[in-house]
Amino acid sequence: MRDDTRRWIEADKKHCWHPFTPQDAWVAGEPLVLVRGQGAWLWDSEGRRYLDGNSSIWTNIHGHHHPALDAAITRQLDEVAHTSYLGFANPRASELAERLCALFPAGTLERVFFSDDGSTAIECAMKMAIQYRQQTGEPERTGFIAFDQAYHGDTMGAASLGGVSRFHERFRGHGVPVTFVSGMEALRQLPAEAVRGTAAVVIEPLIQGVNEMTPWPAGMLRELRAWCDAHGVHLILDEVMTGFGRTGKMFACQHEEVTPDFLCVAKGLTGGYMPMAATFTSAAVYDAFRGADERAFYYGHSYTANPLGCAVALASLDVFESEKTLHHLQPKIALMGELLAELEATHPRVRAVRQCGFVAGIEVEGVTGAAVCLAARQHGLLTRPIRNTIVLMPPLCTTEEELRLAVHALDLAARE
Ligand code: PMP
Repeated sequence: MRDDTRRWIEADKKHCWHPFTPQDAWVAGEPLVLVRGQGAWLWDSEGRRYLDGNSSIWTNIHGHHHPALDAAITRQLDEVAHTSYLGFANPRASELAERLCALFPAGTLERVFFSDDGSTAIECAMKMAIQYRQQTGEPERTGFIAFDQAYHGDTMGAASLGGVSRFHERFRGHGVPVTFVSGMEALRQLPAEAVRGTAAVVIEPLIQGVNEMTPWPAGMLRELRAWCDAHGVHLILDEVMTGFGRTGKMFACQHEEVTPDFLCVAKGLTGGYMPMAATFTSAAVYDAFRGADERAFYYGHSYTANPLGCAVALASLDVFESEKTLHHLQPKIALMGELLAELEATHPRVRAVRQCGFVAGIEVEGVTGAAVCLAARQHGLLTRPIRNTIVLMPPLCTTEEELRLAVHALDLAARE
């Protein structure tokens, strides 16, 4: 082991604390120190190369060290790294808001509120939904409905909407009251009083990511939109994972031509380069916050609309256009389907495969997901398990050749 690597690992084990990580097991292990990236590849501090099968943490949609994204940040550094958005505008935020809102049908989501990560984008939608009701004569509508096994982030409000027991059960009762339903049938059976007290329903459209990559039935999103309209309930779409091309379209809601009242994005917004998020809403919602001073939206953070984040988000939108990212993605989605179908049909330890666009969950049996991911490293693939489901979520720029390598590495790893 190189001296640098040893030093970094020692300091990590002595002082760092990792998210969702049993620390004793971490300290007993030998962590990789990731030092460099290029395209779909990452290098560790020992010089070993890995395919980034998890797009870092579902974030780096255009891969790593992309010249256009890198340049956007250095260009912005020549101007200014950070300015306050409280009381000031900034050029990149203005340009980005205009570009982003133009991605939605005219007259739908035309207003954007920036924040820092997926969780704060969800918090923003929750607070907007509550304050909107206070300012439109329905203050009793304070509740939320979420789906079993949902994951919407880990700040207290967003975690209240979460239904994954491992993450959320221990904090239940400390956050916002939420009614959980398993699907449309259960939603329709909720008592009328519960629905009348509801501000919004929140869902991960098309697929629940942290719930081991479980897709919803086709057409469900449209049914949910109709139910919300019938009951005067707002619809919050959490596109933190699905936004920016992951499902094969720019946004998952486009598959069912559904417009939500709030749409939350993060991760892919900046190509994974900077922590930044956005919550979109309609003119109808925005209008409830106009008029008297007290109607101002009471939410915000120090790094709201950070110029570096905005600059690289703009560059990411340029990359979608210049590289025709979504066009080139379609055959790769089909190839992922073919490769995984073969794995499912022939691999002794692959129990099931679930895919939505360019993301898949490969459920293994007779071996733990963690063991497969550890073995996959030896075959040059980095990814993570969710229980016994291996996540395959490579950058959208991954080539067909690289995709074959990734699936082959998983195949070998799951046999060991
Ligand atoms: N919503 C979804 C659907 C997510 O997948 C995540 C993160 N995995 C979040 C929200 C929270 O995002 P963040 O970790 O950036 O706060």
